Amino acid sequence: MSDTHIVTLSAAEMAAKVASGEVSSRELVEAHLKVIESAEPAIKAFLKVVPDEALKQADAFDAKKAAGETEGLPELAGVPIAIKDLIVTKGIETTAASKILQGWIPPYDATVITKLKAAGMPLLGKTNLDEFAQGSSTEHSAYGPTHNPWDTTRVPGGSGGGSASAVAAFEAPLALGTDTGGSIRQPGALTGTVGVKPTYGAVSRFGAIAMASSLDQIGPVSRTVLDAALLQEVIGGHDVRDSTSIPMKVPAMVAAAREGAKRDLSGMRIGLVKELSGDGYQPGVQARFDESVALLKDMGAQIVEVSCPHLEYALGAYYIIMPSEVSSNLARYDGMRYGLRVMPPDGVPQTAANMMAATREAGFGDEVKRRIVLGTYALSAGYYDAWYGSAQKVRTLIIEDFHKAFEQADVLVSPTSPTTAFKFGAKMDDPLAMYMNDIDTIPANMAGTPAMSIPAGLSDDGLPVGFQFIAPQKRDDVMYKPAAALEAALDERRGGPIWGSLKTPWLAK
Ligand code: GLN
Repeated sequence: MSDTHIVTLSAAEMAAKVASGEVSSRELVEAHLKVIESAEPAIKAFLKVVPDEALKQADAFDAKKAAGETEGLPELAGVPIAIKDLIVTKGIETTAASKILQGWIPPYDATVITKLKAAGMPLLGKTNLDEFAQGSSTEHSAYGPTHNPWDTTRVPGGSGGGSASAVAAFEAPLALGTDTGGSIRQPGALTGTVGVKPTYGAVSRFGAIAMASSLDQIGPVSRTVLDAALLQEVIGGHDVRDSTSIPMKVPAMVAAAREGAKRDLSGMRIGLVKELSGDGYQPGVQARFDESVALLKDMGAQIVEVSCPHLEYALGAYYIIMPSEVSSNLARYDGMRYGLRVMPPDGVPQTAANMMAATREAGFGDEVKRRIVLGTYALSAGYYDAWYGSAQKVRTLIIEDFHKAFEQADVLVSPTSPTTAFKFGAKMDDPLAMYMNDIDTIPANMAGTPAMSIPAGLSDDGLPVGFQFIAPQKRDDVMYKPAAALEAALDERRGGPIWGSLKTPWLAK
């Protein structure tokens, strides 16, 4: 089997070949490193590739397997993975795509990294993102944007565009992202990949560089629903080092995905969220959404319309709460403790305050500065109740809306994003237009519910469209079944997975 063929398998298929001894973990890593080498000049998904570490981890796994010591490891054992550069990795530079952390080598691993290492999954490298995960296009990365493999003149979405493009371009079979307002799901939609935001607290945030702590969540990026389920079961579970981690059993997501592949959804109530489609949606996005709903119905699901009237205010409330938390979390980058330090220019008093100002001026990009200013204002005495207090009340109303909706439906659905991938530069001068990308994804972060995006086909412009499922809190398994069913139905109608239509000149070599 040629190298290029192997990288187009799903992670589950790669894992089966590793388990049977048909390929080694080293061969998988080598195949992906080759693709990375030929794809990166056009895609730029990675900030750092770590071939030596990846091969070392693969060899360690292969040796263990040869010694018969891999019994009981997760199914994905031996399969490599890419990591968003917002997640800290011991001994490997972690930058959050910011100049302020350039050169920072973390002295510890995030809990999810510890789990991947224990599972025998080699890390290929660190992927690009909007600086500190703030953005929807990766154009806010201090190191230049990532390109969308479907059309390299377009953005891959953001903030996790690096992870999404790496998986879409076959540079990695799996990746980890973080999702504060949509940064796993919206890039998933724009690149034709699967992206999951788990229940808030279901996956440890220990070692995820904080953006907005009450919203941030680490989750899987993959090409298939089953692969996402397998990965979420590896990284999920309670962690005493994260005080917001929920002490609960990891939901049976793999079983639910396998059940879904049988394509029988009888007895399942699927709720169309009235407020999350219609006007303002690109016609091709709405059309793919409507067709997918029809497929869900064909498989026996009962389709009901539900209303969540306060979702209208979700985006506005998010852009108060998120920057407030950003302004607090990013106060630690002060030039004192770690990261960049810039001394004030000659002639300016060399005080600590002037050093902090010079460091932040040089180290943060415009979008990050904008949010720190917004958040500091919203939290300032005299404005706190009017802004932050009101936004928190809206958040409660959104949670109540979801509670009511889940009395009528087992799972909710909507498009993942109102448009397909846009051109570089199209929204950079208009922050509000950029913020609108997340209108469908933000509500799940505000409510802490799990949600996922799967590809629903191509729009009239030939670009991928995302379909979103939202499940009740702590019931991540519930969305995996209809998602796997829809994926199977779409694949059958198309005669294969969505990436069959993707042109991949970098695989030809
Ligand atoms: N695009 C959204 C924002 O800019 C979401 C970011 C995220 O999920 N990290 O805030």
